[in-house]
Amino acid sequence: MLDVADARKPERLRASAALDYPFTPPATDGSVVEVAPGILWARMPMPMALDHINVYLLRDGDGWTVVDTGLNTATSRERWEHIAANHLQGLPIRRLVCTHGHYDHAGLAAWIMERFDATLCMSYGEYFMIRGFAGPPSNPLPPTQQAFYLRAGMQDAQIAQMFDALRGDPFMPPVPPAYQRLRDGDVLRIGARDWQVVVGEGHSPEHACLYNASDRILIAGDQLLPRITSNVLVTPIEPEANPLQLWLASLDRLARLADGTLVLPSHQNVFRGLHARVAELHAHHQQQFDLLCAVLTRLGPATALELMQVQFPKRRHAMDELMAMGETIAHLSWLRHAGRIRRVLDEDGRYRFLLAGLKNIGDTQ
Ligand SMILES: [Zn+2]
Ligand SMILES: [Zn+2]
Repeated sequence: MLDVADARKPERLRASAALDYPFTPPATDGSVVEVAPGILWARMPMPMALDHINVYLLRDGDGWTVVDTGLNTATSRERWEHIAANHLQGLPIRRLVCTHGHYDHAGLAAWIMERFDATLCMSYGEYFMIRGFAGPPSNPLPPTQQAFYLRAGMQDAQIAQMFDALRGDPFMPPVPPAYQRLRDGDVLRIGARDWQVVVGEGHSPEHACLYNASDRILIAGDQLLPRITSNVLVTPIEPEANPLQLWLASLDRLARLADGTLVLPSHQNVFRGLHARVAELHAHHQQQFDLLCAVLTRLGPATALELMQVQFPKRRHAMDELMAMGETIAHLSWLRHAGRIRRVLDEDGRYRFLLAGLKNIGDTQ
């Protein structure tokens, strides 16, 4: 389910006055915009609330390296054909870098490898996440996964709805047959530039950003988006995870890069203002932590489902529920690890969360 990416999340943050957008984005029709010498920006359409993903094309000697793919759809394939025929000066795509395994980013990896005879580069964690999520979730769900949502306060029917939506997802891609591994700190030579691999965690297990220090350009993937927040979820596969801690630490690593860096994100517009954006994202999550604590002060011990309904009041369909639940539990995990709240397994089999200072009979943690 991690493949579902951030495509269905409504925008929750306003445009920041601190960010600068130096380019008009390309249309999703296969047009390109040059954002630096030898670096082209194109957009693939997506039939979702978030209606596009950015891909980047980097001149690489007598060929091109491209970053991310778009969804596994006929439309995206047609756009790639158009770009290859019109914008690459007759030179071949030799290499594909996927920042991470979500299917808006890697959905056409297998196709691009075959169609253009290109090598796929990505991290180990992301490549094997694609393999691990190949095929629909089992039906019925494994009992431990069902229990995860029951403990969160959901009912069987609601859980079934979410996973039926996931099983009906039309964009599940084929698994790319092989890859070349990228690791944190690796340097990729692409044309005249060296790109350092900067791995981030929290949104996906081993997300690769690429940073060119001499021209101060960051290909940021979903690790730093200008206006929306990336999904950071706890799922039943790793129910005790604290991904927001990893996410916030990863943001801090990016904040060590030069502030004037031109950020090439996977969604929305190319921007400058890296430090301001990292600060906004920290502030956003702190607000969410404070909101949950305020709700717990008001309600007393509450389930994840009750808290989700406050944190994400606008949920449009079953897939939104899945995302919202994962995000709420991620915030609750962070708060538990920070010692601000505790969790109790009640006699009805549901976890109830309460402020750390409050006593509850039968506490387990
Ligand atoms: Zn993603
Ligand atoms: Zn994405």
